[in-house]
Amino acid sequence: MSASASIALLEALAALDESIASLTTTLAQSEGRLQKIAAERATLVVAHQVLETRQHDEEVKKRALEDEVRNLGRQSEQARDRQFRVHKLVDVQTVEREREELQRLSRDKRTEVEHQDALLTSLRAETEALNVREKALDKEISGDGDRYASTAGEAQGARDGKIAERRAIETQLAPPLLRKYDQVRERRGTALAKAFGGRCNSCQMALPPTFFQKLRRDAIIDQCPSCQRLIYAANP
Ligand SMILES: [Zn+2]
Repeated sequence: MSASASIALLEALAALDESIASLTTTLAQSEGRLQKIAAERATLVVAHQVLETRQHDEEVKKRALEDEVRNLGRQSEQARDRQFRVHKLVDVQTVEREREELQRLSRDKRTEVEHQDALLTSLRAETEALNVREKALDKEISGDGDRYASTAGEAQGARDGKIAERRAIETQLAPPLLRKYDQVRERRGTALAKAFGGRCNSCQMALPPTFFQKLRRDAIIDQCPSCQRLIYAANP
């Protein structure tokens, strides 16, 4: 096979490899996004459960506090009834102090109930925020999720096509040249370079003048002495 025919095949190969690499990236991104949404959704479910348990516990605490307030109210009423029944001044004063103490305790407990209410309100707001985020994610999963999946599907199909095209070219290239191409590509990412203006256009290193002249004169494929890419003259 002539060098120019090999060059044409190598160029087609390089273009295919670029497409395959870009499709592989698209595929990974689509799959990555889907996995990220699913992971966030799972985290939210756990957070939701934790929050629900906490809310339940705090509601139980609130009811206990309200019971205490009622209890203290009853005790206070009983003390008042007792106050009417006692006659000695010292006893009246004792009961009076007792009532005041009960009323103070009752005020404190009511304050605690208010704090508990505020806490529950903020927990409910947190739950609501989680619900909103969950709904948004569900929408993303059902809408964008399908879109990501179809992007991934398309990328997969296109990539399979490009890989098949590559196989067809592989069979036409001389095996040692293909091996060399693949070896360099694996190491450098790309395997082709053009000699232009006395330089390798890939690594930008100056080529030995005799080497450069030979590439132009004989229109052959060689390797860049610096980057080892397969190199040929851009305009022999
Ligand atoms: Zn080079």
